[in-house]
Amino acid sequence: GTSVLLITHDLGLAAERADTIVVMNQGEIVESGPSREILENPQHPYTQRLVAAAPSIASQRIQAKVEDRGILRESDIDAPATVKVTNLVKEYKIRQGGFRSEQFRAVDDVSFEIPRGKTLALVGESGSGKSTIAKMVLKLEAPTSGSIEVDGVNTGTLSAKDTFNLRRRMQPVFQDPYGSLDPLRSIGNLIAEPLNIHKVGDNASRRARVEELLEQVALPQELASRYPNELSGGQRQRVAIARALALKPDILVLDEAVSALDVLVQAQILQLLAELQSELGLTYLFITHDLAVVRVAADLVCVMERGKLVEQGTVDEIFAQPSQEYTRRLLDAIPGASLSLGGA
Ligand code: ADP
Ligand code: MG
Repeated sequence: GTSVLLITHDLGLAAERADTIVVMNQGEIVESGPSREILENPQHPYTQRLVAAAPSIASQRIQAKVEDRGILRESDIDAPATVKVTNLVKEYKIRQGGFRSEQFRAVDDVSFEIPRGKTLALVGESGSGKSTIAKMVLKLEAPTSGSIEVDGVNTGTLSAKDTFNLRRRMQPVFQDPYGSLDPLRSIGNLIAEPLNIHKVGDNASRRARVEELLEQVALPQELASRYPNELSGGQRQRVAIARALALKPDILVLDEAVSALDVLVQAQILQLLAELQSELGLTYLFITHDLAVVRVAADLVCVMERGKLVEQGTVDEIFAQPSQEYTRRLLDAIPGASLSLGGA
């Protein structure tokens, strides 16, 4: 007989778990009523925007608003893989107490390829090994066995100098930009940091590049002199993306990069990523536990379960016809999957 006040930005979850929904915007209640009614037939423009922005399994892949790219994308499908992961294994030693320890396979014989300019989503429950793969692809952790090739070159065999150069091409965006942005440095400094580390250009050209990057991620120029705590979560995530783009990489590894954002900001960031991909031909390894986001953001999907890759295919294949019971359960677990969302 417990009463629950559930606070969330996840509309599907709200619809499934709550009888009544109260929608707030800028400190005020804009709409309230029975959950189903609110989601299927939102009345207030703000609620309509929220509902429309919420990704669901019924959503379509976000297309960049850039014309004349369609042909390029089609012919791209057979392009050689940018990132190729083969029989990747990662074992960690787990202490059992005393001198005893045991090997634990966090990643177990995983293989996949990401074609140039495409997005491969790595999905699976928490603890299934997704971040461990990201760290190995980024060369932040060494594989126990197996290989990772970038444009046909095994990254495990690179010299320190070539590894440094690889980091220019391949950049991470993590979930928590607040944790990865130094609070004592201005936004402009933070975005310029990779340029300093890699000694790209002089002060003037770095400042110009920061301006260009702020524009690319649709942030106002005056943010350059501000500090991370003065920004909203969505703005910080844009800063993290701007910084990842500073060195003009062609591969981004995004580990739960939009998972903590509310639906409106998440939709903006996903749109931004789609546009950058289309303009710059970027290749994304997109890691998420949220299958609804995969629907709108990815071309290919790999499903991870306890370190193993249990299913892979195009987004359409996997969503239309999951062959694994586990994948079906992941799909069924999308909150509000059965709801037909209304909205503008
Ligand atoms: P995911 O990103 O899918 O949530 P992770 O790749 O972070 O999963 O973790 C996969 C498994 O590997 C988990 O069981 C985790 O506890 C384990 N693991 C990750 N890093 C280490 C480590 N450094 N030492 C021991 N175990 C680890
Ligand atoms: Mg993770």
